[in-house]
Amino acid sequence: MERRTIGATELREILRFTAENVAKEEFRLNALDAAIGDGDHGITVRLGFQAVRKSIDSAAACNDISTLYGDAGRAFMGVTGGAIGIILGRMLICGQEAFEKCDALGVDELKRWLKAMESTIVAVGKAKPGDKTILDAVHAASFAVSPLSSGQNDIGEALLVASQAAERAASETANMICKVGRASRLGDRVLGHPDPGAVTFSIILNSFYRYLVEHPPGTQCDSAA
Ligand SMILES: [Mg+2]
Repeated sequence: MERRTIGATELREILRFTAENVAKEEFRLNALDAAIGDGDHGITVRLGFQAVRKSIDSAAACNDISTLYGDAGRAFMGVTGGAIGIILGRMLICGQEAFEKCDALGVDELKRWLKAMESTIVAVGKAKPGDKTILDAVHAASFAVSPLSSGQNDIGEALLVASQAAERAASETANMICKVGRASRLGDRVLGHPDPGAVTFSIILNSFYRYLVEHPPGTQCDSAA
C-alpha cells in the first residue's frame, strides 16, 4: 500500500464508513452487553455514530482534521449516556489535540491519538489494563504501533497492526473478570464473554483499515499518496 496519510475529506468518508459498520453490529454488541450488562451498548454506539455522521455532514467544507474530531466527539456525547458514551465521546475529542495543526493523519498522529485515548480512559473510567474494559483494546493497539513511525510506515500498515492487536485484546477480555463498573459485581459470571466496549473499539479501528484497503490511493481527491 502506497498511501501515507489520511486527509480531511477522506477522514469524513472513513467516519461515515465506521458509522455504517457499527450500525450493522448493533445487535451483536447489544447481545455482548446483555451477557454482562444491560444490553444497550449496540444502541449507544449506533446513536453516537449517527450523531458523528451528522456532525461531519454539516462540516462538509471543514478541512481541519482536529476540528472534525472535536466536533464529532462532542456530537457523540450529546446523544449518548452512561460511562461508555462519555468514554467513546472523549476518545474522539482526544483527536482534536492529537491532530492539532496537522493536514493529514499519519502514523505519528495515530500513535498520539491512541496514547491520548489511553490516558483519557484511565482518567475518566479509572480503569487499568486487565480490568476487562475498552482500555484493554486501546492499550494493545497503542503498544502494537509504538515501534512504527511516519518515516518508516504508512497509515494503512499502522492501522492493520493496531486493529489486529485491538481485535486480539478484545477477544482476550473474555478470560477476564470485570474490575470496574457495574459488571464488577458479577464476579466470574462474566467469564467467556468479551467486553463490548473493547469489541467496539476493534470494530472502529478495523473500519478505518478496511476503508483504506477498499479505497486504494488515487481514488480519493485528497489522497496524499
Ligand atoms: Mg450497557
